[in-house]
This record gives sequence, structure tokens and C-alpha cells, in this order.
Amino acid sequence: MFTTKKRTFNQHDNEKESFYKFSAPNFPNQIKLNENISTDVCIIGGGLTGISSALNLSNQGLSITILEANKVGSGASGRNGGQLGIGMRKDQFYLEKKFGIEKAKFFWKVGLDAVSNVVNLIEKYKIDCALRQGVLHVGNTKKDYKYFQDEIEHMQKNYNYNNYEYFDHNSIRDEVNSDRYFSGMLLKDSYHLNPLKLTYGLAEQCLANGINIYENSPADKIVDNQKEVIIHSGKNIIKAKKVIIGCNGYLDNLLGSKRNYFMPINNYIIATEPLGKDLASKLIKRNCGVIDSRFMIDYYRFSEDYRLLFGGPETITSHFVKDAKSFVSKRMYKVFPELKKFKIEFSWGGTLAISINRLPIFGTIMNQKLYYAHAYSGHGLAMSIMGGKMVAEKILNKSNNFDMFEQINHFKIPGGNMFRRPLYSSAIIYYRLMDYLNRL
Ligand SMILES: Cc1cc2nc3c(=O)[nH]c(=O)nc-3n(C[C@H](O)[C@H](O)[C@H](O)COP(=O)(O)OP(=O)(O)OC[C@H]3O[C@@H](n4cnc5c(N)ncnc54)[C@H](O)[C@@H]3O)c2cc1C
Repeated sequence: MFTTKKRTFNQHDNEKESFYKFSAPNFPNQIKLNENISTDVCIIGGGLTGISSALNLSNQGLSITILEANKVGSGASGRNGGQLGIGMRKDQFYLEKKFGIEKAKFFWKVGLDAVSNVVNLIEKYKIDCALRQGVLHVGNTKKDYKYFQDEIEHMQKNYNYNNYEYFDHNSIRDEVNSDRYFSGMLLKDSYHLNPLKLTYGLAEQCLANGINIYENSPADKIVDNQKEVIIHSGKNIIKAKKVIIGCNGYLDNLLGSKRNYFMPINNYIIATEPLGKDLASKLIKRNCGVIDSRFMIDYYRFSEDYRLLFGGPETITSHFVKDAKSFVSKRMYKVFPELKKFKIEFSWGGTLAISINRLPIFGTIMNQKLYYAHAYSGHGLAMSIMGGKMVAEKILNKSNNFDMFEQINHFKIPGGNMFRRPLYSSAIIYYRLMDYLNRL
């Protein structure tokens, strides 16, 4: 039996509107759970992991229920940077060393398929979510060019993959009009998009496929009574044959000590006023997404109405900052000082889950009645949708991709409940220091 007391999803109560909320059409309010029900599959968490697993299980004769503590898309799925990146959070060099070439090739393929799966879903369901092609990795240090060149060569030689483009010190300045960068590598198969519009589009398809979604209905306790799983939500219970947990950084204590395998991290984004197409194309020539090469990355891109959406900094305490304008803008002005004269109209943040090896954590407990997929480590926009798909395929006995991820060995973050938070904070301070030293 697992219970939860402290609730991370409550941090978003009474906050100001994000740009995504401002830009997306309303998703219809769903009722709160107000009766006891039975269902074949109960999915906890109305983010992209939950919605994707629901969608992939639908139309198979199963009754499916999504239980969302807050509103659909109110977690990281509706708040993220919108960078739909290929691959895993770790590069192929790391994956090959850790798992050998065959498994590394499997993870690479999943990472490519994850993005094409999203693009196909957008086309299939005609979701208007401002999809744009290309993400540019930019080098903050003089040494980065070597890494980019090695990666391009390695991927050509060993994966027959040619969809990267290299930029040297002169040409990167044409792509991103900032004096911060020394080199760059364009990922032509990556994209950027409006994640809340995508989340709502997929959730609407869940409703069209007859899936019941309950909002403002947190799961408080999950009990295995052998025959089925009982989920308690307020005064009501749901009896389910299978349960999927897609709570990611918002998991808290719902799965007991499973939370100790990742760090929940708060990360923040700001949006400027619309800058116009001309200025936008002067700053980022081909309107691609941009991610820099540091440990504590900057990521940014233009929205559909040409605001610069700039994200990056993490806070070192568990306290969630409701107005992140001042500390995010400092980083944005270092990249584009000319933006000081423009208004910052929105700021928001969200919580993500980072595992020690930066690979997602998949697993099953309660004798394969409960499945979980989380800790996409900042690379979850495509991978959470793929994660939900893999959980559904596992339940439907359609593929063993889930098992390949489940076999990855993950490490518990040391420190116990008392010292884990100070440990996260020290890690963030350490990585900030490394970023500073690497630029010297
Ligand atoms: C600021 C920020 C920027 C990011 N940028 C990027 C990016 O550019 N590219 C990228 O690939 N990834 C990015 N990520 C990561 C990405 O957003 C996540 O990996 C992904 O959205 C995870 O989806 P999810 O459905 O697993 O979790 P979430 O979207 O967080 O959904 C979890 C849901 O579970 C609900 N929940 C929690 N507890 C309960 C409960 N007890 N009962 C019922 N429901 C519950 C929450 O309310 C929430 O809606 C970013 C994340 C953040 C926070």
C-alpha cells in the first residue's frame, strides 16, 4: 500500500497564466470523480505519458479511465520548452559504452521513432500545435566543436545517419545572432512545437475514443488486493485490473521509494512580447529550436506569434518560484542583450524528473498489474509519448520495447529523505560551477 501526503501538483494553484495557456484553445473541463467505479485500466496522470498510453490502449475493447490530480496538461507536458528532440538524453557514445552497440542502436531507433511518432500523430489527428523543423545545438565553449564533429562522423560511419549539419565559429553566428557560441550542430530530424496544444489535441482524441477523464481527482493511495488494484481518490475508489502511473516529477510518495530513483527539479521559462517575424529571423535565422551545450542548459525558440520563449535555470531549493522573470531574463540577456527593451509578458515553471544516468525509468510492480514510466530527464516531450505507447504495447502483448527499458539498471539517489534535497542543491551548484569554469 502506498500513500502520499505532500503534493507537488498543488504548487500550480493560483499561478499566473503561462504563454501556453494563453495561446491554446480551452480543453473542456472534465468532472471530478464523485462515485466508486470499476475500469479495466486506470491511468494516473493526465500528462503525455498518461494520455499516450490511454490513446494506444483505446479501441481494443478495454474500459479506460484517466485520473488527473489537477487539469489535463497542467504538469510538465503543458509547460515544457517544446523541443521535440531525437535520441535519448545521453549520446550514443555513452549508450554504446554502457550497453554495447546493439542495444545502443535499439535506443537510437526508439529515440528517432519517438519523434516521427509525434509528427505522425499531429498529422493523423490534425493537431494545430505550431510544429517547426530543426533544433540547433550550440557550443558555449571553444572545445565543443570537437564533440560535434566527432558525433557527426560517428553517426555517419556507424549508424548511416546523415541528418546533422555542422557550423563553425563563423557560420554559427549566421544561424543564431549572438556572440555566445563557438560552433553548432543542427539536428534536422528534431522539431519544436507548442506542447500544451499538442497535449490538448491528443487528450481530445482520448475523449473521442470513449476514454473517461476525471480532473481535480488526485490518487491518494494505491492498494494491491491481489485480484485487482484499488485506487483511492478522496472519498471514492476505483477498482482496476491494470494501473499505469504517469506522474513523472509530480509523483511524490504515490509509489513509495520509487521516487528515490530520480530528482524532481523545477525549471522555468519566460516569453517576451511578440517580436515580429523580421526580428525573429535576424536572431534565429531558420526558426529552429536552440539548446546550448552546458550542464545547466539554455533552451529557446520562437513561438507561433514570434515571442522568444527562453528557458533554462533550475532552482536549488524545493520551493517553486511563481514569478521567474528576473532570474530567467538574466540568462536571456546574456544571449541576446538587445532584448532588454522588450517586455517579458509571461513566466512559468514546471517540475521534471531526472534519473542519475539520464535515461527513463520504466517498471512494473504488484505482479504486473501496475506499470510506471517516468524520469525522462528533460528529454520527455517525444519520449513520454513513446513511453505511454510502450506501456500500452506491453499490456497488449504487442512488443517488448518496454522490457528493454525496464532492464536498464538505475541507482537510488543517496541521502535518505533528510539529505536528498541538500544533495540535489549541491549537484546543481556543482554543475553551475562546471559551466562557469568550462567557459574560461
Ligand atoms: C520547464 C520544463 C521544460 C521542459 N522542456 C522540455 C523540452 O523542451 N523538451 C523535452 O523533450 N522535454 C522537456 N521537458 C520534460 C517534459 O516536459 C516531460 O518529460 C514530459 O512532459 C513528462 O510527461 P509526463 O506525462 O510523464 O508528466 P507530466 O506532464 O508532468 O504529467 C504528470 C501529471 O500527473 C499528475 N499527477 C501527479 N500526481 C498525481 C496523483 N496523485 N493523482 C493523479 N494525477 C497526478 C500531475 O498533475 C500531472 O498532470 C521539460 C520540463 C519542464 C518542467
